[in-house]
Amino acid sequence: MNKIIYLFNLYKAYFINIIFNYAILLKHLNFYRIVNLILNLFNYLLNVTTKKSYTFSMPYAITVETSSICNLACPECLVGTKKTQRTNIFFDIKEYENLLKNLKKNSFYLNLYFQGEPFLNQNIIEFIRIANKYKYYTVIATNGHCLNETIIKDIINNKLSKIIFSVDGISQQIYCTYRRNGNINKLIDNILLLKKIKEQYKSKLPIVEVQFLVHKYNENEFKKVKKWALENNFIFKIKTIQIYNNYHLIPTKNKFSRYYIGRNNTIKIKKRNTLCWRVFSNIIVNSDNNVVLCCQDKIPEYSYGNIKQNSIKEIWNSKIALQYRKSVLEKKIYLCDNCGV
Ligand code: SF4
Repeated sequence: MNKIIYLFNLYKAYFINIIFNYAILLKHLNFYRIVNLILNLFNYLLNVTTKKSYTFSMPYAITVETSSICNLACPECLVGTKKTQRTNIFFDIKEYENLLKNLKKNSFYLNLYFQGEPFLNQNIIEFIRIANKYKYYTVIATNGHCLNETIIKDIINNKLSKIIFSVDGISQQIYCTYRRNGNINKLIDNILLLKKIKEQYKSKLPIVEVQFLVHKYNENEFKKVKKWALENNFIFKIKTIQIYNNYHLIPTKNKFSRYYIGRNNTIKIKKRNTLCWRVFSNIIVNSDNNVVLCCQDKIPEYSYGNIKQNSIKEIWNSKIALQYRKSVLEKKIYLCDNCGV
């Protein structure tokens, strides 16, 4: 009986957190943003059903690559393995503010991370502050190593909406099989420090999400991390690993893998997304100010404009952007063959 009550309370808190997260997101909507979101949807459906290129809305979501470098060296990360090519290490803050000014009427969801560790950018608090000024729902995903008391207080004071921590193990030995150069104690201490300061400040933000990237060597620690996350009142999510080279990392448990073994022992993706909604609704700008196709275009290979050279409206509605989106629906983009979105 005690166990049932314990589990009930654990999951009750979990669902309250999820609902609260959506409530915060909805708070960032207004009339124009709702209309644009509906147009995004119609735009998408029209493209999917006719297989022709139309655009009559602006993206509701923005991703800005605040930092393109990282302090860790994860083996399947293109930054960790030094495969990305950037001229600018960090996103220019003036270009960032211009971007938000130009999109604020229509968009409301902002990721302040792409490739790289956002908290290596010394201006990251200013990025959050500006986003809050333009009433964006803001999300940062981090390895959590660069946080300290001052940064945490600034994050809370500037109302970051959600912070996602990658916690892929609970023991140092397992954690650092993938998060090379990482220190699990430091990460856990920083997450708990954030929790403590939030309580002191009586702040509900940022919402804390613990994300567990499952691979072969940590799949047995998944339950421990989940228990720890739920007991601390955090949202817990599983992420399947994307493999470029290190096939030995594929989890042994089928439910944790986005791949299966096909004929002749070839590794294949379980479900290829042929109707990607993201390319019709999300805009991603890397630290070189290049607008890229989607969150999988990390190197990049399908850049279709630069916000320093053209307005965001021109870029989003350009011929090349339309052509790329059409190519996604025609299954001509090879990135989609290895995408779990
Ligand atoms: S790789 Fe393809 S399916 Fe994945 S997000 Fe990009 S366009 Fe969409």
